[in-house]
Amino acid sequence: MQSRNWQSLVRVVAQLTSNSASALNVPDFAVTFVLTADFESSVRRRTGEDDLVAERAGGVPARRTIPTEDDHARCDVVVDTSLVGGGADPVHVMWSMAHEMCHVLLGRMRSAVPGVALSPGHVPFDRDAGAIALDAYDEYRCDNFANWVVSHGVRRSPGEAPASGYEFVGDTYADLLRAALDERAHTGWADLVHAYRQHETSLGHLVRTVQRETREALTLAAHAHAVAASAGAGSPLAGLPHRDAELYLRPAWDEIVERLSSTPLVPTLAEFSRSDALVFAAGSAALRQLWERLGISSRWTSEGKVYIAVDEPMS
Ligand SMILES: [Zn+2]
Repeated sequence: MQSRNWQSLVRVVAQLTSNSASALNVPDFAVTFVLTADFESSVRRRTGEDDLVAERAGGVPARRTIPTEDDHARCDVVVDTSLVGGGADPVHVMWSMAHEMCHVLLGRMRSAVPGVALSPGHVPFDRDAGAIALDAYDEYRCDNFANWVVSHGVRRSPGEAPASGYEFVGDTYADLLRAALDERAHTGWADLVHAYRQHETSLGHLVRTVQRETREALTLAAHAHAVAASAGAGSPLAGLPHRDAELYLRPAWDEIVERLSSTPLVPTLAEFSRSDALVFAAGSAALRQLWERLGISSRWTSEGKVYIAVDEPMS
């Protein structure tokens, strides 16, 4: 892509984001787009993380929003040059940039309002479940925002349907989710629970694996659903012939979406704390149930310690 093209795309995205920021009452912020041929070291230099390779799911060009100030007043959006190079589709680039700009809006508002408070009634897993759900729901929000930006920012001839995220992103996320489920078709979550109950693996490994894979699967489900929605389709989880999807993932994601259906996708600054609390509550309830269906539950003991029970999974 020519640099003039790239700049005019960024300008359209910046203008639409700035209009949204005013409407949502987002405090002032500045964004720098960083194009890099060495994505991993660019991100590592800014975050200090060193496990980036695993994070790059196959086929999805790398991009990442990184606050350079604690209150998100300044952010770098780091973009792998492969996203914008050669035959890159300008509208796909626009969609991806808009997605990152929504992360900036959410991060900026989240840093300006009180965070979600845990009550003594929350079981130990609730914090993890709520955090996973908030992250996945942010991806859902950002994809929906990107859908909105391309539908408004791309000129189409009269009578033609507005641009949609699905035209450019297609089934990428649904395919990644299916591939992730295929990969562990014979060692699904319930089998892992059985392995623990037969003393073949440790409790730590079981809990860490289930939580990590719940995070990955829920995030892909969130992306796939938002992209499908831009083409008027329902959740792609509905047609996935996988035990983990049918028994565990789909009921959890559907419940989160259902419980949040009457709250605005991207809330205003004034509504932000309440909205995050709702996502946290919906997410921790849905994921607690998912893990309980798998037989894994947690509670506080009278000594204030975490007790984890592992029973027979529902099948
Ligand atoms: Zn994202």
